[in-house]
Amino acid sequence: MGIKIFFNFFRTPLTDRSKYYLVAIMNEEKNKINNIELDEKTMQFTSQCREAGLKVTPQRIAIYRELLQTDEHPSAEMLYEKVKKTFPSISLDTVNRTLLTLNEIGAAFTVAGSGDARRFDGGLHEHQHFKCVKCKRIIDFHHKPFDNIKLPSELSEKFTVLRKTVYVEGLCDLCR
Ligand SMILES: [Zn+2]
Ligand SMILES: [Zn+2]
Repeated sequence: MGIKIFFNFFRTPLTDRSKYYLVAIMNEEKNKINNIELDEKTMQFTSQCREAGLKVTPQRIAIYRELLQTDEHPSAEMLYEKVKKTFPSISLDTVNRTLLTLNEIGAAFTVAGSGDARRFDGGLHEHQHFKCVKCKRIIDFHHKPFDNIKLPSELSEKFTVLRKTVYVEGLCDLCR
């Protein structure tokens, strides 16, 4: 499709100060989506599907709603475990394909990073990710200056940039 650009800061463990900073934001961001928001988002999602010519199946809705209700940035496997409680006959493959479809129509996105299983995010508000290299937790944080990072001109002249995201790696508060 296009080029996704992400920046790796802090390859080495973070300083103590940055760690406290991330923990503070983590607690703040813990508030989960409420039912009204969830229903509104589901409505938006169904029209998004129709616009993209996709069938709105109960399984698709269930996967989308599970994704919205977690801040764990789950992998397909993690979501599969949740959705199969309601749809015992659903396959991991269906969950996987649905997540990739959500990504294509812009209802969710994959979290940057390499090596581990692909992780998904239904939170489309501006935010950035901190990933613990040890326990693999992905934690949202929001630092306003990161929303509008300017790219070097040779990059924006050469490529079409679709999305920029800041991705921070280190050790989380539980693993340090
Ligand atoms: Zn950790
Ligand atoms: Zn996120």
